[in-house]
Amino acid sequence: MSTVDFTVEYARSAKSICRYCHEFIEKNAVRIGKIIPNPYDECEAGWDDVTRWHHTDCMLKVFELDKPKEKKIKAPGDMYGFEHLKKNDKDTILKLINDGNTKRDNLFRDFRCLCAKISEEESSAGKTSLVSNHLWKGNGGTGYKGDVYLLMKLLLPGVVKTVYNLNDKQLIKLFSQIFGTSLIAMEEDLDQGDVSETVRVCFEKSKKVTPLKKSVLSLQEADGLLNSLSKATTESEQLSILTKIIIRCTSNDLMMVVRIIKHDLGINATAKHLLGGLHPHAYEAFKVSRNLKDVVERVQANTLESMPGLKEKETGNGNRDDRDNRDDLKKTPVKRPTGDEGLTTPAKKQKPECKTAPAASPSNVAANIFTGCKIFLPETTDSFKELKQYIIDFDGEVLSEGSKRSATHIVSSKGKMSTVSGKVKVVTPDWLWHSIKKKQLASTEEYKP
Ligand SMILES: [Zn+2]
Repeated sequence: MSTVDFTVEYARSAKSICRYCHEFIEKNAVRIGKIIPNPYDECEAGWDDVTRWHHTDCMLKVFELDKPKEKKIKAPGDMYGFEHLKKNDKDTILKLINDGNTKRDNLFRDFRCLCAKISEEESSAGKTSLVSNHLWKGNGGTGYKGDVYLLMKLLLPGVVKTVYNLNDKQLIKLFSQIFGTSLIAMEEDLDQGDVSETVRVCFEKSKKVTPLKKSVLSLQEADGLLNSLSKATTESEQLSILTKIIIRCTSNDLMMVVRIIKHDLGINATAKHLLGGLHPHAYEAFKVSRNLKDVVERVQANTLESMPGLKEKETGNGNRDDRDNRDDLKKTPVKRPTGDEGLTTPAKKQKPECKTAPAASPSNVAANIFTGCKIFLPETTDSFKELKQYIIDFDGEVLSEGSKRSATHIVSSKGKMSTVSGKVKVVTPDWLWHSIKKKQLASTEEYKP
C-alpha cells in the first residue's frame, strides 16, 4: 500500500457513489478517494488497492467520526492529484483541511495526550520540547492552530488559578450523587489515593451515567464549563454544571477535568519548563507581568523581547545566539494567528534542506516509524535533541551508553565507524532524517558510515 492514502480528482463519470451519504457523485464534481487495501485480497496476493470515493464535505465528516488513529487528510500532500485541481477547488479544500486541523488542535483529547507525554518524560528539557513540538507541529504538521492561550492556561492550572472551592470530600459527594454511586464506596476508593482516579473509576462503573466512548470535548467548552463551575455558589448549581461537564466526557476526560479543578495535572512539570516550550523567555516575561494572555499575545506578535520590565540580561546576546541556531521554525506556529494564512503558505515555510523540515510533512505526526527500534544515538550527534525527540515521537527507543549493547541500531557519524558486531546495524544520522522525512524506515544499507 502506498504512503499517500488519499486521492482527489474531478469525477470522470457520474457512476461513483459517496461512501458517506450514499448519493451518486456528479460527473466533474470534486471527489476525494480513500485508498485502502483490497478487502477481497484475502490471500494477500498483491491485488490493487481500492479507492472509496466521497464528496469533499462528506470525506471531512468521515474524519470527524473516525477514531483518532485513522488516517486523515491534514495537508494537501496527503492526496494524489491536488496540484491538478483548479484554484477555486484547491482553496475550498484547503479551507476544509485547515478547519479540520484547527478543530483537532482544539480538542481536549489532544491536550490530554500532551499531558500524558509530559508526565512520562523524565527530563525537564524533554518536557519543554514536548510543549514546543506540540505548538510547532499541531495536527497538520505546520503549526498549532488551536487557542494557544487556552492550551497554556489549562497546562498551568496551579499557576493561572481559577478557584473552585471544592475539596476532595465535596467533589466525591457531588459525583456520588451524579453517578448514583454510594458515597461510602467512593470514599473507600478515595482512601487508596487520588480523587481524579476515584472519579474516573466510579464514572466507568456508574449505572446512572455512561462515559462517552469517543472524546468530543473542546478546550473552549471545557474552559467555559470550568469557569461556570468556579462561579457556582450553591451545591445545586455545582451539581448542574458538573452534570453538563460529565455528559461531554469520556472517563479519561473527566479524570483530567478533576485534576484541573484540583490545580494539579500530575505531570510533574514546572511553569518554567512548560512556558519554556512556548518561548525561551516566556517564563521570565510571565514572572514580570503575571499575565499569561499578554505573554502569549506577545509571543504570537513576536514582541516579547521588547516587553517592559524584561531584564536586558535575560534577552541578551548569549541567549539570542543560542536561539537563532535552533532555527525559526520553533517559533513559527505561535506567531501565526488563526485563519487561512497558514493554509496558503506551508510550501513556503517548508525548508527542504533544513533538518527540522520533517515537521512540515504533516501525516508523519502520527506515524510509528521507529516501532521496535532501539537506537543508540551519541549525544555528540548534530541536532541530537531534535533527533532524540523524533525517535521518541515516532515510537522508537533511545538508548543510553550503558544499554548500548541491546541496540538494534547504532548511529555513528561518517568517519567514526564503531567497532560493533552481530545483528546491530550501524547507520549515519542521515538514516534517521531520511526515515523521518519519508515516514518509513529507510534501508540501512544506504546509510552505512
Ligand atoms: Zn456524500
